Amino acid sequence: MSEKTTKGQALQKELAYKKVNYFEKASAEEKRAIFDYAEGYKAFLDAAKTEREACDTSVSLAKEKGFTEYKFGDPLKAGDKKYFINRGKSVVVFRVGTKNLEEDGFRIIASHIDAPRIDIKQNPLYEADGMAFLKTHYYGGIKKYQWTAIPLALHGAVVLKDGSKVNIRVGEEEGDPVFYINDLLPHLGQEQMGGSAAKLIEGEQLNVLVGGLPFEDEEASDKIKLNVLSILHEKYGMCEEDFLSAEISAVPAFRARDVGFDRALIGAYGHDDRVCAYPALTAVLNNESEHTVLAMLVDKEEIGSEGTTGIQCKVYEDLMEEISLALGASFRKVRANSKCLSSDVTAAYDPNFAGVYEKNNSAILSCGTALCKFTGARGKSGSSDASAEFVGEVRLAFQKEGVVWQTAELGKVDAGGGGTVAKFVAMLNIDTVDLGVPVISMHAPWEIVSKADLYSNYRAFLAFMK
Ligand code: MN
Ligand code: MN
Repeated sequence: MSEKTTKGQALQKELAYKKVNYFEKASAEEKRAIFDYAEGYKAFLDAAKTEREACDTSVSLAKEKGFTEYKFGDPLKAGDKKYFINRGKSVVVFRVGTKNLEEDGFRIIASHIDAPRIDIKQNPLYEADGMAFLKTHYYGGIKKYQWTAIPLALHGAVVLKDGSKVNIRVGEEEGDPVFYINDLLPHLGQEQMGGSAAKLIEGEQLNVLVGGLPFEDEEASDKIKLNVLSILHEKYGMCEEDFLSAEISAVPAFRARDVGFDRALIGAYGHDDRVCAYPALTAVLNNESEHTVLAMLVDKEEIGSEGTTGIQCKVYEDLMEEISLALGASFRKVRANSKCLSSDVTAAYDPNFAGVYEKNNSAILSCGTALCKFTGARGKSGSSDASAEFVGEVRLAFQKEGVVWQTAELGKVDAGGGGTVAKFVAMLNIDTVDLGVPVISMHAPWEIVSKADLYSNYRAFLAFMK
């Protein structure tokens, strides 16, 4: 083999595009940073399994960095570090920059902190044949069969008869009991296994096993249910009727763990979309740019961004208007000059299911955070489709800071699709593009991401805000 580079090889290097594996490209120091950053993320995942907990955990981290609570009407000045809490389920963490807000606009990163899960119904508790169960209604797009036969934890809030609120979190601490959704033994599964996977387990079979010990009283009826009620009363002061005004969710009781002999990957519940929310948060907390930067950590993305805590709610627009007002700027002018990264996960190319991907335009694991110019389904339906000009601008910012990144599409054109919060931000006259971490087994109870892609996402956010 000749050592000399041929003309064709030189031209290839100059003209052709090739993705790079970030682990391969990173210096020893950067590699250390990749692994160190993952430790903080794993701690965040374990502390923040629901949107309420993600909101609280984000606020705690912000407070540690000297951020204080902002309420509509509060005065603001350059250098202020603030967080705005929306109903305990979403939070906007922001820092006021030194640049003229009307001319410079906001730099926004929007991510979501809700994740697919199994919600408990309003009248859930019943007893049947030696067991007590809670009826459920699943939240978000799940493969129902994946949620059976795994340890589950219960998280949530209950508003009691007197209006006071108690928080529930059982199944996370060492020594806590966990909960469970029954599946059928294979010996009797002949009919079940012959049907479609969508019907392996049906919605009304997703009942959470919560007890088996009868209350000690010969005269009482439904003794297992009664015993569960007495424990709930003792622990939380609640009666059965209090389930009516409760929000309790069953989530996988697994903790975030390193995956692989080399620890390159992280397995966890809820990477979608905390793998973007955590970098968004930490990028704002550690940011010292001249721009006014916002990390919007919103709720309800998994069910269409609806309600008072989803990004379609006017509260986020109101907040940006209030910030503009407090800084003496016209919101119309501010938003016209604002830019947003809508940061949500994308599907990582999986060689085990190669048939649903178009490889050249899929996100390859560890090749960095993935920019999706458009999302949507079929003919880009439901996508905000960012302009070449804006993508070019973002590309330049990444290039300047040496960010390893790639572009991606969710799957083959006709294979399905998806969308996220980008289009709702774009509606405000704010240039917006999707950027997020590739995930293996998205929406499964335990998902996989690469530590390199997590860190690339963080670096991309810092570059975007610079
Ligand atoms: Mn998502
Ligand atoms: Mn999702």
